[in-house]
Amino acid sequence: MTTTLRTETHRSGATSASPEPGRDCPLCPRLVDYRLAVRTREPDWFNAPVPSFGGPDAALLIVGLAPGVQGANRTGRPFTGDYAGDLLYATLLKYGFAAGRYQARPDDGLELIDCRISNAVRCVPPQNKPLPAEINTCRAFLSATLAAMPRLRAVVALGRVAHDSAVKALGIRAAAAPFAHGAVHHVGAVTLYDSYHCSRYNTNTRVLTPEMFESVFAKVRADLTCR
Ligand code: SF4
Repeated sequence: MTTTLRTETHRSGATSASPEPGRDCPLCPRLVDYRLAVRTREPDWFNAPVPSFGGPDAALLIVGLAPGVQGANRTGRPFTGDYAGDLLYATLLKYGFAAGRYQARPDDGLELIDCRISNAVRCVPPQNKPLPAEINTCRAFLSATLAAMPRLRAVVALGRVAHDSAVKALGIRAAAAPFAHGAVHHVGAVTLYDSYHCSRYNTNTRVLTPEMFESVFAKVRADLTCR
């Protein structure tokens, strides 16, 4: 499915916020409480809003849901240390959006190429489920992240929550860009691509196969190469 939208740009939903929240961002009380509890329980983990990975000059931004408690919340790098990262980084390496060897550690030397990874919600939520108010609050940072990428041409949203938040951050009417795996929505100079989230649950249940996931990035690669 392809949706063509009128001329709003990714800057239309942007705010003047910094793209990166502070380590003790106080804006979501429930997530702050959870952060502090996990800090007490696991003092050696990262336990803070996880910053974007990759430079702001990238053409591609990947938007996930939120850090996993034992993944990005532990390691401090998006999608690093849990199953979702295994499939995501293998796919990015295959399509030339990363170089090196992914070893599930932030010091593994993996580099992103023309690609950046962020999350709709920067703090780990209990049971991996952020509340609508938390998604709305953290969108200020997603909007600022989009606005700080002058070469942005493609956004890949992993899952419905990331899609919905990206749609709002991009200034698109939700009804004009319904989520579906493989859907493509054109927003001025930026194209939004939808994928099911690469979670262990989705892959174990075959909601998302590696082939389905790769097809999204194959299209992004082809489209970026054509421009
Ligand atoms: S989820 Fe976002 S807005 Fe909420 S406390 Fe964390 S960094 Fe701040």
